[in-house]
This record gives sequence, structure tokens and C-alpha cells, in this order.
Amino acid sequence: MSSGISPDKKEKLQSWLRYYEDLGIQAFYRDRASRETSMKESMTEIQEKEPSNAATSKAVQLPQIRAAAPKLQIVGRSPSLFEAAERVEGDSLERICSELAGCTRCKLHRRRTNIVFGVGNPHAELVFVGEGPGHDEDVQGLPFVGRAGQLLNQMIQAMGLKREDVYIANVVKCRPPENRTPEKDEISTCMPFLLRQLSNINPKVIVCLGTVAAQALLSTNKSISHFRGQWLDFRSAKLMATYHPAYLLRNPHAKPEVWADLKKVMAFLGLTPPKGKQG
Ligand code: URA
Repeated sequence: MSSGISPDKKEKLQSWLRYYEDLGIQAFYRDRASRETSMKESMTEIQEKEPSNAATSKAVQLPQIRAAAPKLQIVGRSPSLFEAAERVEGDSLERICSELAGCTRCKLHRRRTNIVFGVGNPHAELVFVGEGPGHDEDVQGLPFVGRAGQLLNQMIQAMGLKREDVYIANVVKCRPPENRTPEKDEISTCMPFLLRQLSNINPKVIVCLGTVAAQALLSTNKSISHFRGQWLDFRSAKLMATYHPAYLLRNPHAKPEVWADLKKVMAFLGLTPPKGKQG
């Protein structure tokens, strides 16, 4: 019986399935009705909601590496591809990092020096998500270590935290040539890894630094000005989008807006600013 799928669609589908097999995900279901519902539900709605609780601190512990092959956990309904990519049984940051080693899944691999996976507390309550590595990050293999990174460090300190307290990651893990904005296909290829990182860390708050991170996590094309500074929901976490530190380097007049956003995050997490940074 014919499948009714055109050859090019079939090839595309096969290449997606191969890609997910690479990620260790092998079980998919042809249940159209529930798939369509789940796709709708899985798209993060941009909702304004005031958070209600203050956070308590968590101990820093390294996640354990498990040797078993990852298995898809079926929870209630058939997952979308992106949901499935996050539900890898026994997943860990180490496993995700090792699956990215030597990655050639998108064209950004051609000119990178190092994959920039992410750094920080694997149990952080607060995760910062940037756009993608720049020159310094590419050379060092670490996120936010250049000029924008220095400003991010100051922002973190102003919140009464240390860089080691939070987790820092990017939407794409390889530097786009000449620091151009990552392209759609590059973002969609790398997103499953960021989503798995977020699932594993399970933060209370995600701060999106700039348009690319906010649009990618919120699945929207809207400009950041529509929702900057508002509390949004991302799965079980609260999400706050603010301006990218690199934008602040070019537009220092926007710093008070970012500080106002960070103060909302601090209030939610029950953080008090160090002396001299009360305003
Ligand atoms: N800009 C980003 O978005 N990420 C980095 O890691 C560095 C600069």
C-alpha cells in the first residue's frame, strides 16, 4: 500500500528520524490526532503570569553518568519530536555534552574551533541563555567570556550571585561566522540539546539574553520589545527575556531596563542585592 508521502518528504522524514536515532530516541508513533494536540500544547504560550513563590537554595551536586542507552519515556500522550528529544531516560549534562562531541549536524561546525556547551551549576535555580558563541567563546570553549561576558558577570554579581551559582548556555553551540545571527536551520538543529540541558537542570527561572534566545524558547517571531521584562511561562520554569549584554555595550542607556528585569528575577528567587546596589 502506498504511504501517500512524496519522495522528498519521505527523505526529509527519514533524515529527521536518523537524527533522532543519533540522539538515542527510537520510538515514534503514528497517532495523528494526539500528535496534533500535543504539538499545540507543547508550543510555549506567551502568557503573562505573576510568579508567587520565593526560591530556596539547592546544594551543588554533580549529576551521575549512567551507562544505559537512553530510552524514550512515554508519558500519557505521544510526544512531539521536540518533547521527545527532552525525555531521554537517564539523561545528564555529561551525556548531552558527549553526544555533541565532534558534532557535524549543521554547517556551523565547519568554521568552529570549539563547541561551547555551557557552564555552571548543574542544579542552578537560574539559567541564562544567550544566542551563540562569539570569537572569545569559540577559542576558549566557554560561554560569555568576552566583553559581553564581562558585563554578564557584573550583572550576576549585582544580583548577589557568583557565576558558579548559575548556569550559562547558548541557543547554538558553535560560533556563527563573523558573529552573524544563527540561521533557522542552525537553531532548530541545536535546540534539542538546549532543551535537554534545561530539562536536566530544571531551573526556577530562565533569563533569555536577547531576541534570538527569547524567540527560540518561546517559539515566536515577535520582537523582544513585545515581552521584555514580563514574566512568561516556559514548561515548569518562569522565563524573563531581557536585552543581550552585547546590546547593552552598544546602548548603555538601556541598562536600567535590564536591571529592572533582573530585580524581578531576584525578588522571585528571594535574592537580596549586595550593599551599595539597592536601587
Ligand atoms: N554572546 C552570546 O550570546 N553568547 C556567548 O556565549 C557570548 C556572546
